[in-house]
Amino acid sequence: MKWTLIGASTIAAQYMIRAIRAQENGEIVSVLSESAARGGDYASEHGIQKSFTDLDEALADPAVEAVYISTTNEKHLAQALAAIAAGKHVLCEKPLAMTVADAAEMVAAAELAGVTFATNHHLRCSGSHRAVRDLIASGRIGKVLSLRLFHAVHLPENLRGWRINSAEAGGGVIPDITVHDADVTRFLLGEDPETVVAQMTASGMGEGVEDSAMSVWTMPSGAMVMSHESFTHPFAGSGFEVHGTEGSIFARGVMTQNPVGEIELVTKAGREAVAYPTHDLYVQGVAEFVAATQGKGKPAATGWDGVKSLAVAFAVREAAATGKRLTVNYGGAK
Ligand code: NDP
Repeated sequence: MKWTLIGASTIAAQYMIRAIRAQENGEIVSVLSESAARGGDYASEHGIQKSFTDLDEALADPAVEAVYISTTNEKHLAQALAAIAAGKHVLCEKPLAMTVADAAEMVAAAELAGVTFATNHHLRCSGSHRAVRDLIASGRIGKVLSLRLFHAVHLPENLRGWRINSAEAGGGVIPDITVHDADVTRFLLGEDPETVVAQMTASGMGEGVEDSAMSVWTMPSGAMVMSHESFTHPFAGSGFEVHGTEGSIFARGVMTQNPVGEIELVTKAGREAVAYPTHDLYVQGVAEFVAATQGKGKPAATGWDGVKSLAVAFAVREAAATGKRLTVNYGGAK
C-alpha cells in the first residue's frame, strides 16, 4: 500500500514511518508540510521521495491509497475530509478533531465514500492491554467493580510546544491523554462511560490549557472508573488496576508507546504474573488498518471509537470547567 504522510510530525518520525514500512509493500511516497523547507528536510531525512505544501497536489497522486494524518489537532478535520473526497483510506491521529461533531462528520463522510477510517489509539494494539481485556472477558476477576487509570507523565522537552500553550491547536492534557484513557476504558470493559465528574489544573507546564486532570466516570454496568492524567509528573509511572468480585489485575508501566510493563492477577488462588505478546503497538495497528482496507476485519480503533473516546475526554473537560456532573454526549456515534 502506498501512503502519503499528512504532517511532518514527531510521532511519524519516531514510530509511524517504521510501522508503515514494516508492512508487506508498505511504501511512503510523499509527505505534506506547511513549510517547503521543513517538508523537504523531513523527506530527505526519512528517505521519502516527494514533499508537498499543497494538500490537493499530494492527494492527486492516484497511486496513493492511504493517508496518515498527524498534524496538530485543529487541522485533522479539513485534511481528513479532503483525503476522503479524494478516495483515500484514512488513518487519523487522536484526538480526531476539535469537537465531537467535527469528528463524527469525518467518520460519517468516510462511511459514505466507502473508504476505511481508523483512529490511531495505539494502546488497544498492545499485547498487555489485550491480555487484560481477555482476562476480564473470560471472567477471571468476576464482575468488574472498578478501574483505576494512572497516566501522569513528564512531557518530554521536545513536545513542550502547542500541547502546553495552544488551545487553538488542540493543546491540553485532556485531548492529549484523557482521550487515550477513555479509549483504554472502553476497550478493556467493552462499555461506554455514562457520566463524569472532574477537576483540572495547570501545575507548571500548561499556559492557557490544563496540564493535569482527575476524573471519575460511571459505567452502564455500575462499575466506576477513576482516571488521572498529567504532563508534569517526572516519577509517577503509569498503569491501571481493574478490580472485580473474584480478583484484581494490576498492570504497571503499560500506558506507553512500547511493549513494556508488568501485569499481575490476584485471586483467592494467589498472585500470578501474566505473560503477554510483545509486538510493536504501531506496527500492529497499521497491519489491522491495512487488513481492514482489504475487507479483512475492522481497524483496532475505528473512526467511531475515536469519536466516542473524544466525547468522553471533552465531557471531562466540560465537567471540570463547570463543576457539574455530566452525561457524556456521544453525538449520535455508532
Ligand atoms: P509535532 O508537534 O511533532 O507535529 C505536529 C505538526 O507540527 C507537524 O505536522 C508539523 O507541521 C509541525 N512541526 C513539527 N516539527 C516542527 C518544528 N520543528 N517547527 C515547526 N513546526 C513543526 O506533534 P506530534 O507528532 O507530537 O503530534 C502530532 C499528532 O499526533 C497530534 O494529533 C497528537 O495528538 C498525535 N499523537 C499521537 C500519538 C499516539 O501514540 N497515538 C503520540 C504522539 C502524538 P507541518 O506538517 O506543517 O510541517
